[in-house]
Amino acid sequence: MGSTTGFLDVIRIENPFRAEEARLGDFEDLHMPNPPKVRHEQASRCMNCGVPFCQSDFGCPLHNLIPEWNDLLYRGQEQEALRRLLRTAPFPEFTGHVCPALCEKACNLENDATTNKDNELYLIETGFAKGWIQPRIPAVRTGKRVAVVGSGPSGLAAADLLNQLGHEVTVIEKADRPGGLLMYGIPNMKLPKSIVERRIRLMEAEGIRFELNTEAKAENLQDYDAVLLCGGARKPRSLNVEHMDARGVMFAVDYLTAATKAVLKGTASEAGAEGKHVIVVGGGDTGNDCVGTALRQGCVSVTQLEMMPAPPEDRTVNNPWPEWPRILRTDYGQMEAIYRQGSDPRIYETTVKQILTDEQGRISGLETVKLQRTPEGRFEQIAGSEQTLPCELLLIAAGFVGCEEKTLASFDLKADGRGRLLPEDGSHHLGGKFYSAGDMRNGQSLVVRALADGRAAAKEIDQKINFK
Ligand SMILES: Cc1cc2nc3c(=O)[nH]c(=O)nc-3n(C[C@H](O)[C@H](O)[C@H](O)COP(=O)(O)OP(=O)(O)OC[C@H]3O[C@@H](n4cnc5c(N)ncnc54)[C@H](O)[C@@H]3O)c2cc1C
Ligand code: SF4
Repeated sequence: MGSTTGFLDVIRIENPFRAEEARLGDFEDLHMPNPPKVRHEQASRCMNCGVPFCQSDFGCPLHNLIPEWNDLLYRGQEQEALRRLLRTAPFPEFTGHVCPALCEKACNLENDATTNKDNELYLIETGFAKGWIQPRIPAVRTGKRVAVVGSGPSGLAAADLLNQLGHEVTVIEKADRPGGLLMYGIPNMKLPKSIVERRIRLMEAEGIRFELNTEAKAENLQDYDAVLLCGGARKPRSLNVEHMDARGVMFAVDYLTAATKAVLKGTASEAGAEGKHVIVVGGGDTGNDCVGTALRQGCVSVTQLEMMPAPPEDRTVNNPWPEWPRILRTDYGQMEAIYRQGSDPRIYETTVKQILTDEQGRISGLETVKLQRTPEGRFEQIAGSEQTLPCELLLIAAGFVGCEEKTLASFDLKADGRGRLLPEDGSHHLGGKFYSAGDMRNGQSLVVRALADGRAAAKEIDQKINFK
């Protein structure tokens, strides 16, 4: 155990955000790391509880050995701490940036939890800086070949483990760069793309092949012993209104992809928000990323519409610890909008009634309407509550409804009622040599869940092909 009184002696200190004024001027990392001394002290706050909920099913889906590496970090044994972390965590540099830290919400210290996320980021970055992270080339090869379709976190985690188990792995990706939503989706300020590329280079050095700009099709994959489908759940939920095809109306991931491509090229985005009134439909995390991106691109204003009422500020009685707290959060983009515009950009219990267009077929405004719940739990529009807002860029971040039909058709597969390739027996095996993992299997979720599921699928494939 770390210090016996650590959590009493030391207060929780997270990696600070850069000041709004500075970070709104670029797409660089939002956070600044704390020095090693702070990290050692923060690790001392972990109490090595009798029942460490942080690594239970309520906490980290990877079941990271959190109390063990916190203890080693507190004692200054950083290399050993990193080794313990890497026992279960394939890419701590990704989760250290973007994980919502389920472990911290399940920590016995509750709101005052140990800073596991920042600690793991510190450990892996120290490992890279000190040269402890080197390519691990498997000593023995099995001669079995596995194709992984999709290079998001689930595909990368599966490829990593299958390669370490000695199989020959090819990752097939239709985009021009690997990483899935880690590359094109999550903005650069939340996860710098150099960090994704550093990991890909390491994986290549370890023997994994990446075939980019390639749409996978079943008939081209006959020679593989197993094919793992990790194509994500990228079909966006649309709005049931006219003029969705108007110029200036975009789905969030298309907008965020164009923004990241522009950042990587060092140019302005073709679909940028500069000089525009922007409205984002959807009050969730994807919507927040759109808010932060639009502000950096120089929008005139940004507003976020959310159908649901604002969540409570504190846990309700039917949402106790150690469950994930369903409470109001103000994320970085919303904080930046408050800084720039003076008020929270979110408008609750409101939806789009009409997209207004000009003669050239461009969006020129938006008619919104307030919603209320009926006693049966349905939403209904409140007559007379219509409002017209200026809008030259409308971003739809209303969630995802499952995997893309094109990929399903290429493999002659049918998704379930929720758009997932989830085998009925709860395994990853779809039949024959086909398997599924990540969002494609489970629906749109989190990076850490995709990593855990990719590893689980890899273990299942390894069992199967080793005994073939
Ligand atoms: C904007 C946004 C922000 C997010 N932010 C966070 C966050 O901060 N923290 C967090 O934990 N989670 C976040 N998420 C969720 C998280 O990114 C996903 O849950 C995760 O990326 C899913 O991983 P995956 O590997 O299953 O699929 P994806 O990351 O979607 O990757 C699927 C890949 O498969 C490829 N593909 C699909 N079909 C084919 C084909 N036929 N041939 C070849 N390639 C194909 C796609 O091009 C893509 O690269 C965010 C999601 C979005 C949309
Ligand atoms: S991956 Fe996420 S849940 Fe797991 S230890 Fe890291 S921050 Fe916590």
